[in-house]
Formats: sequence, C-alpha cells, structure tokens
Amino acid sequence: METEYGNPSSLHRMGFQAERTVELARKRLAAALFCEPSELYFTSGATEANNLALLGCAAAHGRRGRTVVTTAVEHPSVLEAAKELERQGFTVKRLLPGPDGYTPEQFAGAVDEDTILVSCMLVNNETGLVFPVEEIARAVKRRNPGIFFHCDGVQGFLKLPLRMRGSAVDMLSISGHKVRAPKGVGALYIKKGVRILPRTFGGGQQQGLRSGTEPVPLIAALGAAAEVQRGRILEELDRYRELKARLLSACEGIEGVTVRSGEDCAPHIVSLSLLGVRSEVLLHFLEGRGVYVSSGSACSKGRGSYVLEALGVPRLDADETVRVSFGAETGPEAVDALAAGLREAGASLARQR
Ligand code: PLP
Repeated sequence: METEYGNPSSLHRMGFQAERTVELARKRLAAALFCEPSELYFTSGATEANNLALLGCAAAHGRRGRTVVTTAVEHPSVLEAAKELERQGFTVKRLLPGPDGYTPEQFAGAVDEDTILVSCMLVNNETGLVFPVEEIARAVKRRNPGIFFHCDGVQGFLKLPLRMRGSAVDMLSISGHKVRAPKGVGALYIKKGVRILPRTFGGGQQQGLRSGTEPVPLIAALGAAAEVQRGRILEELDRYRELKARLLSACEGIEGVTVRSGEDCAPHIVSLSLLGVRSEVLLHFLEGRGVYVSSGSACSKGRGSYVLEALGVPRLDADETVRVSFGAETGPEAVDALAAGLREAGASLARQR
C-alpha cells in the first residue's frame, strides 16, 4: 500500500512493479491449487466468483441447454445466482440429501441432455458436511460429457488438500477471509479451455473476464496466505481433528448438548445445539466468556436455517444450533473455554421446551 501503489495496468515502472506483485500472488495461489496461474481470476470475494461462474457459464452455454443442477444447502451466493438464472428462463434443480446423504449417483440421476452446469460446494459452511465433489463431477460427466462443473470451495480451500490439475472440476471459487487474508478478495479458478462470459464490463483486465483495476494489496495478501499455509494442510487437519475430538469428548459430559457434525464432516466446523437454549442467547452468553461462535440459524428475521432444514434437522433443534469453527489460532484452551461455557449455559439458561 505504501510503496507499490502503482496501477498494474500502467506502463511505467511503478505499474510494472504492481503487476509483478499480482503475478507473484497468482503463482502462489496456483501452487496451492495445483493449477496454472493463467487459470486464476481475482475477484472481490467468493460471492462474486460464484456469481461469475454460474451466470457466466449459463450466458456462454445457454443455447445448448437450459438446466442447472445444484444443492439446497449452497451458500446464498450460489442459491441467489441460481434464482437469477430461473428469472432468465433456466430450470434449476436443487437437490436434497437422500437416505445416504448426498451421493454421486443422486447427482448423476438428476442430470440429463439439457443440463449445462452442476454446482456443488466442497464443504458446507453451517455443518462442515464434505461433499464427494470429485466423484460427483465424474459421475455427472459420465451421463453428459458436455456438463460444466462448478464447486464453491470456500470452506475447503487450504483446509483440505485440493488438486485442480487432473480434476473433473471445471471451476472453483475461493475467498480470502476464510484463509486469514483480508475481506474483499477471492478468486475463481477456470480450467483451461472452459469458456465462460464476463459479467463485468470495462477495461478488459484479467483476460477480459473480470474488468477492474486489481486491488494489489488484497491480492498480495491472498497470495501470501496461500504460500504460508499450503504446506501445512495435513498438519493443520490433524490439529483440527484433535480439537474436534476434545470438544466431542467434553460435550459427552454436558447434559443437553447434541453434536451434529459427524464423521462425514470436515473437522474445522462443528455444528452443535444445547437443549432449551436458543442459539442467539447461547452466542451472547459465550461471547461474554470470550468465545465467539456463529448462530447457524440467524439467516433472516424469524426464518430458521434452510441448511439445517434441508438436512432434516427439526426446526426447534435448528433454532438451538450454533456453529463452531476452528482456525489457525484456535488451541485446546479455546475448546475448553467453550465446553465450560456450554456447561454453565446449560445449568443456568436451559428452559423446558
Ligand atoms: N461460499 C461459502 C461456502 C461461504 O462460506 C462464503 C462466505 O461466508 C461465501 C461463499 C461468500 O464469500 P465472500 O464473503 O468472500 O463473498
């Protein structure tokens, strides 16, 4: 910000320096995703990346087919973009989990000749549920090789090993603020040869797909985050597993606590509820003890969590559910503080339903 404030599109030395910084970040991100730097487009975050993927793909291939398949538990930035596609005349299928959860066979059964795009997240942001994305992508392409596959990878990026080279995933969205980079930056990976149309029009930056002067400091930070963390994913995954096991074993001794995130979930997100305590009340109670969790069901006034509803969690239980996420700074003492907070909250706040 202070020394390289040139515009990466400028032809003078300051501009060239800024461009080099952007390109270094692109290389670092590419190394973390095992892809080519030219396959990455910086955006203002994953909301924009998801919108670009869905709307840009539909705009490019809408003449060939008019159906898009996704899940009912995607982030609003996918679900709302899908609604926009419906307004444009596309048919959108939103899959609910079957008896065995979400399976590749279920996705394969939902696509047909008219399907141009399938969008499925890697890790659900409310429950940590991991989708078998690679298998799903392969299964739908076996049914219809013309399908493009998009993945909202926000909650899995730098948390689970990802390798785009050789993957059946054509597009992947990521966000800076989930990986210790600042808010306001993200990226869309688009496999070489996959054509989508821009949804932002202007100066033609980033191969014309995402016009706008690149926010050099934010991009540099995203590149740095990728560089620092990409070699530590497995180590951190083990640490998150230990933290989750510690939390689960503490919760076994606390009356009224139900942990919803099982073996099929990534270990850094744990969804749990405390019987008789509404999630907002619990959130503020824990906040008073220096523990910050999110209320999974606080999406909009009076409405419960559509994710928990889709996953079959009864409304009353959903209203008492909070989401706990572990990050690089979360240690065992934070888990112990959470467990102590849950115990106290259960003893002092729980009401009979
Ligand atoms: N997708 C998922 C799964 C998310 O959790 C989020 C952010 O919370 C987003 C997309 C949106 O990302 P951003 O805040 O960068 O727009």
